[in-house]
Amino acid sequence: MMKKFLIVANWKMSPETPARAKALFSGIKKAAARAKNAQTVVCPPALYLSSMATAGKNVAVGAQDVSYESDGTHTGEISARMLKAAGAKYVIIGHSERRARGETNGIVAKEIGAALKEKLIVILCIGERERDTHGEYFSFIESQLRESLAGIAKKDMGRLVIAYEPVWAIGEKAKEADTPEGTFEISLFIRKILATIIGKEKAFAVQILYGGSVNPNNAAVFLKRGGVQGLLVGRASLDARTFGEILKSASMTKNI
Ligand code: PEP
Repeated sequence: MMKKFLIVANWKMSPETPARAKALFSGIKKAAARAKNAQTVVCPPALYLSSMATAGKNVAVGAQDVSYESDGTHTGEISARMLKAAGAKYVIIGHSERRARGETNGIVAKEIGAALKEKLIVILCIGERERDTHGEYFSFIESQLRESLAGIAKKDMGRLVIAYEPVWAIGEKAKEADTPEGTFEISLFIRKILATIIGKEKAFAVQILYGGSVNPNNAAVFLKRGGVQGLLVGRASLDARTFGEILKSASMTKNI
C-alpha cells in the first residue's frame, strides 16, 4: 500500500510571537484533521516546538535544523536528543538557506547521522542553484546526494525523506515554481542515484518531496505529474487557510 502524501510546512523564522504560532497551528491542525489522506508535518522555529508537541490527527511536528554534536560546549546549538524531547518527529536538514550560511554536504552528513541516532525522520533538502542548459545540475544533485548520505546505514533508510528544492524556485525572489515535468525528471534521477546507494527496492520506498513556490494552484499538479509523494511548503504555510487548501488538494489526489 502506498503511503499518504507527506505535506511539510516550513515556517522558517515566523510567526513573530508564540500567540500567533499557536493560532496558526490550531488552524492548520483543523485543516489536517479533515485532510485524512495526507500526513502533515509542521516545522516551527525550535522555540515553539514543545508547546506544539501534542499535535492533532494526521499532524506531527519537526525541526528546521539540528546540531551534529550530541552535547557539550556548542553555544547556540540544539541537539537531536533535545529536539526529540521537545516533541519533534521530523527534522529538515540541509535546507538551502542553511547551506547559504556555510553548511557543506559534509556537515549535512554529520547532522543526518546525529538525527538518525535519535530516530528522528530526516527530510534531506537538495537542489541546484540554477538550471543550466548543459544539464550540469544533474551532477550537482548527484554529489549532494552521495556526499550527504555518505555515512547512512541501510537500516536507517526507512527514516529518510528527500526534498527536491531547486534554489531558484524558492522564496520571495523566485521567479516561478519548477514545472511538474522538470520535477518528474529529477525525481527519477534521484531514485536512480538512491538505487545505486541502497538498492532498488529500498530506493523505491523513499518519499521524495517537491519544494519551491508551492501554492494551492500548483500543489495537485506536482503531486499528479511531478513523480513526488509530497510537498515542502514555505510561504504558503504561514496562512492556515492557504495551507489548508494545499492539504485538501493533497488529500483528494491519488498517490500512485
Ligand atoms: C522553502 O524554503 O523550503 C520553500 C519551499 O519556500 P517557498 O515555498 O516559500 O518557496
